[in-house]
Amino acid sequence: MVHTSIQSVQAALADGSTTTVAIVRNYLDAIAEQAHLNIYVEVYAEEAIREAIRQDEARTQGAKMGKLAGVVLSIKDVICYAGHGVSAGSRILEEFVSPYTATALQRLLDEGVIVIGRTNCDEFAMGSGNENSFYGPTRNAADVTRVPGGSSGGAAVSVQAATCLIAMGSSTGGSVRQPASFCGIYGFKPTYGRISRHGVIAYGSSFDQIGYLANNADDIALALEISAGADAYDATAPNKIVATYSKQAVETGPQSIAYFADLMESESLAPEIRNAMQATLERFRAAGHRLVPVTFSFFDYVVPAYYVLTTAEASSNLSRFDGMRYGHRSSEATDLVETYTKSRTEGFGTEVQRRILLGTFVLSSGYYDAYYGKAQKVRRLIRDQLQGILDAHDFILMPVSPSLPWPIGEQTDDPVANYLADIYTVLANLAGLPAIAVPLKAEGGLPVGYQLMADHWEEGKLLSFVRGL
Ligand code: GLN
Repeated sequence: MVHTSIQSVQAALADGSTTTVAIVRNYLDAIAEQAHLNIYVEVYAEEAIREAIRQDEARTQGAKMGKLAGVVLSIKDVICYAGHGVSAGSRILEEFVSPYTATALQRLLDEGVIVIGRTNCDEFAMGSGNENSFYGPTRNAADVTRVPGGSSGGAAVSVQAATCLIAMGSSTGGSVRQPASFCGIYGFKPTYGRISRHGVIAYGSSFDQIGYLANNADDIALALEISAGADAYDATAPNKIVATYSKQAVETGPQSIAYFADLMESESLAPEIRNAMQATLERFRAAGHRLVPVTFSFFDYVVPAYYVLTTAEASSNLSRFDGMRYGHRSSEATDLVETYTKSRTEGFGTEVQRRILLGTFVLSSGYYDAYYGKAQKVRRLIRDQLQGILDAHDFILMPVSPSLPWPIGEQTDDPVANYLADIYTVLANLAGLPAIAVPLKAEGGLPVGYQLMADHWEEGKLLSFVRGL
């Protein structure tokens, strides 16, 4: 039997109807059977089984088990795990082995989580279709000719294809919600700072957050409460109280839900998504919630501001990959400057090079004020206007993506088309807000979802609402 929630796994382990070894073996079989999906960069078969045996023995001896005992996790290839490779989907880090473990992952490990492998992703998390990976694209299990979304594409399919129970991903501009939605599962990013970024390979540090992809919001709530909270290694993770989100009462009372009415009419929205959004609005209305149309003046500036700011941060973050300290070093170089240029030219893919160039340009003297400085101001305006909406309402309801999963290869030559498709997800990252993608039952077609956003630090309220749906 394939378990689709932490609760059902743990109930089955507690009543002896399964063992941890059986669970892990099932997942390993599923990975082998679905190798064509290209979900994993590396599978930790032996050590996962070893840990499962250890947990089964401990359980038999009556030991107190961790809150995540028997829970099998995949980690995106940007999460550091001591003694294991981590490459950010890039040739430049192909051989790199992490000397330490990300704080959030360590907290899950301390509660007994079993890591089954690291998942494919867009190179340095830059992309929306998982097509920018050095390891080739991951395929959507709902239709193998289509993308699973990105950049946490492997993470989304790892859950969709039942090769693990829950996946740890990262979001800079939508990389958890968008692939989750493309694959028909839940995807959640917390408030900026809620989870430590220590041990996540940096892309845009003022945007990056760890997030979870799972079959339900209860599993996300539990993973969040265990991994969130202050960390001495990340000054942006403040000492805010972390609630036991998974045990909070579900929220069933009427909520005030804002939505962008103009957006529902937008021509760029795929008809299936527009219909799904309309149906969701109606359903919420029928359930007694107050649905309030609101306006947002900055939609035209959201994607440009995001790409100016994140490429600027990326150009700085990725300067450490210079062929000298770690990662790929060109064997063709004969002096220092050549070592830098050839190592980076060989090591980085096209999209990453494009973004480093863009980011270097917007930060260069003479252009800084016109681009980077201006984008920072736009970010503030976006944040303030969203804050105004969330001061008056409980949640904002939006699509996750304007498009359905596209055929693999269709958009690879058109970076701008890819960037524009990020319009609905980058908002939460620009403003640092928590947001969740909720799947809708697809009627035969491709998966569709919707998105709910809440105020800063209100992930308890957001998850309680979604858990109660
Ligand atoms: N698609 C967006 C980008 O390419 C978001 C990626 C992310 O969240 N890591 O930047």
